[in-house]
Amino acid sequence: MRTIRTIPLHIASDSPHIEIRGEVYMPITSFEALNQQRRDDELEPFANPRNAAAGSLRQLDPRITAQRKLAFFAYALGGNSGIDIKSQEELLQDLSDFHFQVNPEYRKFTDIEDVITFIHSWDDRRDSLPYATDGMVVKVNSFAQQARLSNTVKIPRWAIAYKFPPEQAQTKVLGISVSLGRTGVLTPAADLKPVHLAGTTVKRATLHNEDYIKEKDIRIGDTVVIQKAGEIIPEVVRSLPEKRDGSEKVFAMPTTCPACGSPVVRREGEAAWRCTNPDCPAVIGEKIAHFVSRDAMNIDGLGDAIVQQLLAQDLIHDVADIYALTKEELVDLEGFGEKSADNLLKAIETSKSVGLARVLFALGIRFVGAKAGRVLAESFGSVDALMKASTEDLTAIDDIGPRIADSIVAYFRDAKNQALIEKLRAHGVDMTAEKKTLINTTFDGEIVVLTGKLQMFSRKEAEQAVEARGGKCTSSVTKKTTLVVVGADPGSKYEKAKKLGTPIISESEFKEWLER
Ligand SMILES: [Zn+2]
Repeated sequence: MRTIRTIPLHIASDSPHIEIRGEVYMPITSFEALNQQRRDDELEPFANPRNAAAGSLRQLDPRITAQRKLAFFAYALGGNSGIDIKSQEELLQDLSDFHFQVNPEYRKFTDIEDVITFIHSWDDRRDSLPYATDGMVVKVNSFAQQARLSNTVKIPRWAIAYKFPPEQAQTKVLGISVSLGRTGVLTPAADLKPVHLAGTTVKRATLHNEDYIKEKDIRIGDTVVIQKAGEIIPEVVRSLPEKRDGSEKVFAMPTTCPACGSPVVRREGEAAWRCTNPDCPAVIGEKIAHFVSRDAMNIDGLGDAIVQQLLAQDLIHDVADIYALTKEELVDLEGFGEKSADNLLKAIETSKSVGLARVLFALGIRFVGAKAGRVLAESFGSVDALMKASTEDLTAIDDIGPRIADSIVAYFRDAKNQALIEKLRAHGVDMTAEKKTLINTTFDGEIVVLTGKLQMFSRKEAEQAVEARGGKCTSSVTKKTTLVVVGADPGSKYEKAKKLGTPIISESEFKEWLER
């Protein structure tokens, strides 16, 4: 954070404690320079300024973060003491006096019609801003009124975000290329004549599948309308046949896999074409990328370039082979040294104990996301119990529908997958979890703190109720706390939660949650 130049290192305030909130962003000029640099270094460019800013903040080396030329807009106050600020307007003035960068476009209005007019005045102008934006926030100015309106569990009642409609642009389809995902599905994408859209240069846009291309009659050489909504990748919305000159070509899906040359098939009732080769290197590469990803086994240092080398040298054939890699094999790889080999082996070793929930997600079973992984792990306690489960056993669990259940049963019925599980087990991967009887998943992933005197529950009952709904109770409020339940006469935990901006609910609201 110190490397961000728009954050002052000292502020002129007598307050012994002040917490200032805002948003780190990457100006478009910095973003374009960074992506140019990455292309020169043959690295994958960032998709948009937001990803680039987040990626830059995660850098452990502050020198790299400094090179990224990030900026910061301050707009809110967290916990503080000794400061008397009565409104958003006063706050922005004070932040500006403290030499923080405050967005110069803010305005105060007394009439909602004027607010709406102001928002629409940005419809055509927002492209001229030096940063990418997807909307505006309207806030109640007076802090006293904000306090009276208070917060709901997830959001405050005194602020609302307005999102701009997705931006569109016209460009030409230079070609259509096909790539493979980890399920072996061939996904067509349009290679576009580069066009500026919503603060980024777009060169590719997804075409989803064969039917989409046919329905929209999108041809190679066509002029098309593309759009970008929020954070999603750009897509082709429609073609403009009136702009054709006769040179356009109708696209046909390849009949063989572009990665391995095996035949491709389209299953009954599906829009997707798939590679039929279970050992297709492109598919295995994607499976490994998913397996090692942060929310799965979280193995850092096994990027695509390394995986492709390992596949090409026949060192790995499936995700379990990662656990058989040796230092000798790794140091021989291009771009790998002693140190990176050691780090990778350490990360691989650590991943063995991430537990069943993540393993289930990492396996890439169709429809089993991170949340389903957690629910299944807690309901069954071990992969062996899960492998024996019938569709009925599975659908008896809240949140597991027939589609997920069928997919799990089919996955574990496959002898190849059974062998993979045995292989992972032989390598020492822990495939157990603490078994819990889940009533439902109301509190899935929540870290809950109870404070004050509860009238309707004993402390123990409340804790068990949270845990039986997928949540975890802890005793102190930290930044990781996601929810605080407040009883009568709450003490310092309540104050801390307010300072941190942690969502707070009353005991009666808590009771309502339990009855959902
Ligand atoms: Zn293939």
